[in-house]
Amino acid sequence: MNEILKIAVQKSGRLYDGSMKLLKECGIEISNGNNQLRVQAADFPVEIFFLRDDDIPEYVQDAVADIGFVGENVVVESDKEIDITEKLGFGKCRLSLAVPKNGSLQQPADLDGKRIATSYPFILQAYLIRNKIKAQVHQISGSVEIAPKIGLADAICDLVSSGSTLFSNELKEIETILFSEAVLISNKQLSPAKKIILESLLFRIRAVKKARNNKYVLLNAPNDKLESICRLLPGMKSPTILPLAASGWSSVHSVINESDFWNVIEQLKEAGAEGILIIPIEKMIV
Ligand code: ATP
Ligand code: ZN
Repeated sequence: MNEILKIAVQKSGRLYDGSMKLLKECGIEISNGNNQLRVQAADFPVEIFFLRDDDIPEYVQDAVADIGFVGENVVVESDKEIDITEKLGFGKCRLSLAVPKNGSLQQPADLDGKRIATSYPFILQAYLIRNKIKAQVHQISGSVEIAPKIGLADAICDLVSSGSTLFSNELKEIETILFSEAVLISNKQLSPAKKIILESLLFRIRAVKKARNNKYVLLNAPNDKLESICRLLPGMKSPTILPLAASGWSSVHSVINESDFWNVIEQLKEAGAEGILIIPIEKMIV
């Protein structure tokens, strides 16, 4: 029988859409949505298991699933024997300490002797030991942000992305304990056949991630400014330059990184570029 790689993804919640979108962009089409526990892909040797995110590290450790897409925060908290193979670039958040906005607690050291509510007791305890803070950890499974208001704790340690939940509960962040995003975790004893499927999936995932982080840029440049414009556009090898029908002008094509995108565009304009077009890249293989 041909091998199939079993992938665990969150059944519903904040990671579901990002996980399915990534699989789709990797050319892996899943029909029937998430109403079933497991679904086989039509055109790639994988089977998707839809699970609660907290269970994914254990299932991957125990080889119920071969790999999983799950938040790094859940992976670190669960402390299982698995490999973190690839960061996936979505589900970004941070695990932070927060305190009442107008109270006397201002910094982590002030939490000595206080009570902290969290769903991440393992990560929090390790942080407190590392920083020699003697606080009591109260484990609660949900709605951690209301704990100070109802008198259950003096501070919280919880996931934050925009900060709007903290804001509406009159809390302020005083320290980030962990930055997190969705990661691909793998079982430590994959068979050689499964490793081959995983490598082929990783090749696709990396091409999708690169494409998301880069844009294709087209612009017109007067020939006497080409040199300084090309210096701003290293591209994958070097920019492509094609003559325009109008004499003295060229069209320049290249790839630029999302991280310094606006900065580069400004500089291109200053250097004399005109008619700048930015185009999304679907896949990028280097
Ligand atoms: P499940 O029902 O699967 O147990 P859940 O309620 O525990 O779901 P979600 O709230 O859907 O989990 O969050 C899943 C993951 O999304 C988190 O573990 C974290 O990695 C990521 N995430 C990103 N931003 C946030 C945020 N602002 N708050 C909580 N989680 C976030
Ligand atoms: Zn969960």
